[in-house]
Amino acid sequence: MSEVKKRYYRKYTELYPLVEKIKLWPSRKGHLHGVKFIQLRGKYIDITTHCGKQFRVFNSRHSRAARWLRNKWASVPCPACRVPEWKLEKYSTTFFSAHYGKELVSENSGKNSSEGEEA
Ligand SMILES: [Zn+2]
Repeated sequence: MSEVKKRYYRKYTELYPLVEKIKLWPSRKGHLHGVKFIQLRGKYIDITTHCGKQFRVFNSRHSRAARWLRNKWASVPCPACRVPEWKLEKYSTTFFSAHYGKELVSENSGKNSSEGEEA
């Protein structure tokens, strides 16, 4: 009997609901930051980490961060963020599958996405 609860999410989920769930952010240097604040603003996501970094990223399924989170390429927890063990544990037992798992959807998706496309 295993006490570890595994979670499965769909592979090509949008970045926003993914980070909103996991509350971790993979930096380009391979650090895992703890996410203190995250907000969806149209096509962009505003993120503030626990160590005080603020940035805006594009809410994409194919962004670097989405790929890094799925593949778990960032493995060193940011020391300044003090990411709690349970959060890392939860992330380590979260898996991504192309054909199986929970679909994560942004709160504003489902609307006509062709709107606002300017030539
Ligand atoms: Zn950090």
